[in-house]
Amino acid sequence: MTEKLVVTTKGFVRADFSFWVGLYMDKFYDSLENKKIIGNKCTKCEKVFVPPRKICGECNKTIPLDNNWVNLPDTGTLQNYTITHYRVSDRTARKAKNPQIIGMVQIDGSDTAIVYRLLKIEPEEVKIGMKVKIEWDEKPKGNPSDIKGFMKM
Ligand SMILES: [Zn+2]
Repeated sequence: MTEKLVVTTKGFVRADFSFWVGLYMDKFYDSLENKKIIGNKCTKCEKVFVPPRKICGECNKTIPLDNNWVNLPDTGTLQNYTITHYRVSDRTARKAKNPQIIGMVQIDGSDTAIVYRLLKIEPEEVKIGMKVKIEWDEKPKGNPSDIKGFMKM
């Protein structure tokens, strides 16, 4: 057996792309553009999903698109969090000036959690169970970044 030399090089590929988010998320993003949170409710187990889902993970039942939507507030409860010193969603993994807190927030009236930054909350004061409120982007565009993060209430 002959040994082969494998030549490698480090590189960086940037790929801008678009993808279809689907009918359920389309409706959700439309609501974000109006600074509103909506979820959808399983007709069998009545769990409320934010973001909405086509199929309930509990019952494996399709949630019809045309109804079962629920309007929810822009407040929630912190279910869990982590503190990172590195920027999130930054491919260069640069160290952030200040630690960032990433929280899992259960929107009031929903049964799931969404992951966003906690804003203007110090690491010493973050606590599981604390009430938080969405900080909206000033000019929402109908995408996930319309929610800048969550602030304490
Ligand atoms: Zn269900």
